[in-house]
Amino acid sequence: MFNWAKSVQLCQTNQVVKVRNVEQLRDILIHVNSTGKHLKIMGTGMSFGGIGATDSSSDIMVDMSNFSGLIKLDGNLAKFGGSTVLQVVADTLVEHNLQIAACPGVLVAQTLAGALATGTHGQGLKNGGLYDIVYSMDVMFADGTLHTLSRDSPYYNGKDVFHAFQLHLGCLGVVVAVTLECEPLQIYRLDKSVTDFEDLKENYIKWNNENEHCKAWWFPNTNHVQVWKTNVASAKEVLQYKENGNKIYDLKKEPVAGGSTYGSVNDKPSVGDLKGSGFSSSLQELLSNMALDTSTDSKGKTKDLNEARFRTVQRFSKLDARVGNIYQIWCKGIPAPQINCELAVPLDRLPELLQTLRDFYESTDKSIHYPFILRTGGPSPSWLSPSYNQKVCYIGFLAYLNEKTFTVHEDQMEFVCRIEKVIADFGCWPHYGKFFTRSLYNFESMLPRFKEFAQLRQTVDPNNVFANQFIRDLLSI
Ligand SMILES: Cc1cc2nc3c(=O)[nH]c(=O)nc-3n(C[C@H](O)[C@H](O)[C@H](O)COP(=O)(O)OP(=O)(O)OC[C@H]3O[C@@H](n4cnc5c(N)ncnc54)[C@H](O)[C@@H]3O)c2cc1C
Repeated sequence: MFNWAKSVQLCQTNQVVKVRNVEQLRDILIHVNSTGKHLKIMGTGMSFGGIGATDSSSDIMVDMSNFSGLIKLDGNLAKFGGSTVLQVVADTLVEHNLQIAACPGVLVAQTLAGALATGTHGQGLKNGGLYDIVYSMDVMFADGTLHTLSRDSPYYNGKDVFHAFQLHLGCLGVVVAVTLECEPLQIYRLDKSVTDFEDLKENYIKWNNENEHCKAWWFPNTNHVQVWKTNVASAKEVLQYKENGNKIYDLKKEPVAGGSTYGSVNDKPSVGDLKGSGFSSSLQELLSNMALDTSTDSKGKTKDLNEARFRTVQRFSKLDARVGNIYQIWCKGIPAPQINCELAVPLDRLPELLQTLRDFYESTDKSIHYPFILRTGGPSPSWLSPSYNQKVCYIGFLAYLNEKTFTVHEDQMEFVCRIEKVIADFGCWPHYGKFFTRSLYNFESMLPRFKEFAQLRQTVDPNNVFANQFIRDLLSI
């Protein structure tokens, strides 16, 4: 069995044990812990590296899919089984007129515990990501003991460790259940606009301070930028959305009266198409590069625009304004096989980094397949969060794989690594669930609580039951 990008073999099918209940899980762990074996927990395999992989065919892979669904709803606290898929979390909450108290990322295919393990995040300065809205977690340790750690009861062995568990790397125990902080379901208005690199560099932080969520895509070949901003919709817009059967409502159907309250960048119209903006050339250039690098025929000519990687880029071809709930607006990911790298820079250093990146890009004759993606994260108490006690901006970039062979063009891979080095040299942190080169990062000096996390892992899992190669490399075990 492989991860989703087929970059890592997770285990053989005969290593998988589907766990029925907590008692069986305890028996398995006691056996594994006392026999020197190792165990991993299966998520949906959306992480790129080996974080979820077993090291040897004698290791056990537990399938926790029976630990799924809503367990309890108590006011704004919703308790779910640890392996609940995020789509189920979203749908369940919407049914109860609620949403998670963090902006979601682009996918909802992941499991809750898997998404927490790697620090999955969306955009906005309100918090670090999904992991910051964890109110409590039921975790079974390697010795088979079950512990509930929460904001109100954060202690283990007399030490306040709750914030270590929120972003847990899958190496502290088996997450059996998670209670999330929720808030009333909001309806948002999304405005898309186009601007240029200089405006992005100067104003991206301001847009994030002024809007609830803001995401930007910088097309480095042409220096066009597409910007998406969301804010709570007006009463009229909410009504239009409701009359549309609670489906996403496209405001392009009618002009926005007197300009939008949420003015678009450079006073360009927030509603309209891309004609005349020159932006179409950015899209065309990307599509041609992708067709050459990831083509399914040996001559590099096949360009089936229905393949997922082309569809991801074509999404930028319309500028519109929309009304929808937070999932309808932000979870629009088209999972196209890719090597995706995402690094976090302290927010106040973003303009400097963007300029460095642009200078680097202009000094090469290479092109990337997809624009650079910019998303912010707010200060987090979570020990391993890239936004621990600070605001950051994540910069994402990627190379698409050929969808039939799942291989990447070697020039493209080399280019991804060169870009990673430029950003990493700036003192940035990688996303644990995406591609990164371990040797570029000195986590101990970057993350104040990294050493403490490694010590805690040693205390709760002294026999290294959950430590695979990825964890040993990361934590220098
Ligand atoms: C197309 C695509 C889009 C993405 N978009 C975003 C995005 O917008 N934002 C973002 O931040 N990230 C994003 N990611 C990354 C993704 O969110 C992470 O890789 C996430 O960890 C995947 O969750 P999973 O369920 O697949 O976990 P896996 O990758 O399967 O596992 C991750 C870790 O969690 C552990 N684990 C799983 N279940 C448990 C459990 N019950 N108890 C303890 N440990 C457990 C596993 O053993 C493993 O160590 C994206 C990835 C892809 C491929």
